[in-house]
Amino acid sequence: MNIEQIYKDAGALLEGHFILSSGNHSSRYLQSAKVLEDPAVAQKLAGALAHMIRNAQIEAHTVCAPALGGVLAGYELARALEIRSIFVERKEGVMQLRRGFEVKAGEKFIICEDIITTGGSAMEALEVIESLGGEVVAFASLANRGFCSRVGSPIQTKQECKLKAGVAFFALEDFEFEMYSPDQCPLCQAGSEAIKPGSRN
Ligand code: ZN
Repeated sequence: MNIEQIYKDAGALLEGHFILSSGNHSSRYLQSAKVLEDPAVAQKLAGALAHMIRNAQIEAHTVCAPALGGVLAGYELARALEIRSIFVERKEGVMQLRRGFEVKAGEKFIICEDIITTGGSAMEALEVIESLGGEVVAFASLANRGFCSRVGSPIQTKQECKLKAGVAFFALEDFEFEMYSPDQCPLCQAGSEAIKPGSRN
């Protein structure tokens, strides 16, 4: 399965000249929610992720996603693994479990995101689960921005990665984009103007 092509076809992998949330510029941008617009594509991607997790003999009772970005990917992954799906969400800036969802002592979890950049939200979800007596046995995401090492990829963990060491991380594809500070951006120097992704709509 050509994951990059699936993202391109879905309009989820943009090419141009973008201002990232960090303020840096890049010629590529991942609009990761777009790839999940088509439920059939979401199901196919989550099925491939579930296959990797099963092959690694990871066994979990439940998928937990940090809202909002992770919810659809987490739900589809749970469907493919035939296990339960819950999510955590921020209230007044603090990640928490709400809506009657429960965690049993010793319950095994996969934390799932649509995309892992540094893994900050995934780690907030892990902290909620562990504080309630659950155990996180894996991280999973459809896309990996290349800061964290994952099962089956030569990418090394970089300083920015926040994922807990020793917990396996599964993702379908690495999307490592070159980033430039605005004053050193070759696209700016070539005279093009950077846009904020989504601002064209
Ligand atoms: Zn630029």
